[in-house]
Amino acid sequence: MKHIFGPVPSRRLGASLGIDLIPYKTCSYDCVYCQLGGTTNKTVERKEYILRDSVITELKSLLSSLESPRQAIDYITFSGSGEPTLNSEIGSLLKEFKAITDIPLAVLTNGSLLFQEAVREVLSNADLVVPSLDAVTEEVFQKVNKPHPSLTVEKIIDGIKEFSRSFDGETWLEIMLVKGINDGQEEIERMAEVAAEMKLAKIQLNTVIRPPSEKIALPLNEEEMQQVKEKLGEKAEIIAYFDRKKERIYKGDVENEILAMLQRRPCTIPDISNALSLHINEVIKYIEQMQKNNSVKSITRRDGLYYQAIK
Ligand code: SF4
Repeated sequence: MKHIFGPVPSRRLGASLGIDLIPYKTCSYDCVYCQLGGTTNKTVERKEYILRDSVITELKSLLSSLESPRQAIDYITFSGSGEPTLNSEIGSLLKEFKAITDIPLAVLTNGSLLFQEAVREVLSNADLVVPSLDAVTEEVFQKVNKPHPSLTVEKIIDGIKEFSRSFDGETWLEIMLVKGINDGQEEIERMAEVAAEMKLAKIQLNTVIRPPSEKIALPLNEEEMQQVKEKLGEKAEIIAYFDRKKERIYKGDVENEILAMLQRRPCTIPDISNALSLHINEVIKYIEQMQKNNSVKSITRRDGLYYQAIK
């Protein structure tokens, strides 16, 4: 299974089967808070980065191995190692998946390409789309998302607005709040005005809980999150701290393998992913749980973030 991972427990989507259509780490942004690390290929070029047919074959094989796929999986979720709408085949895959299964389809996107009519159209076969919007002024957008030079915040806002109004499924807006960067009072008030012009079922507020790509990305505390929530109105909910205790790691043996590796030497998330043939996002889930259990800790080195076992 190279492009499909999980199902992994997701705070918002239950048991989520991840579909990764993008090579690590290809994205139109290079967000300061990105849990995947720095963007190595910043692009807006849409192409078939991962072959469509190989993804379909993997999905069919996985579903046929399950006794009751509908019970085992709550959502099939397009997310992964970068921005999924960069894959030019995402539309035909959504269509094909609809024909194969009745499991709901979700797309987690940074929203940067929704200004393109073609991208809005190809997402029409999804049941749920979760675009993110972390800034409403150009200065803050550049700081928090470090976008591809062709992108402006105005384009992003217009694209999400237009998409949310024409999409038949649900649109949830995700806002990642970073202390001192995009949590200023004026930015949040303007964000509330912009969100009110979109057709949204929910506004989900997140903050920097997982180790970010840059050390300057710091989280808001629960009280500060609450203040932002009040400004954004009744559709807003805080997902950063929500129900995190209920997240479970499914396989103890995988956790033990990661621990054994980290007892030998400190490793990065991609190191663990490569060595154990686990998807990056799965490794992140395990590491997060192991940090909660105090069995591993992170250390920052000049070349990135490493993890090591706590003896
Ligand atoms: S949009 Fe997502 S994948 Fe891309 S840099 Fe930001 S957080 Fe990372």
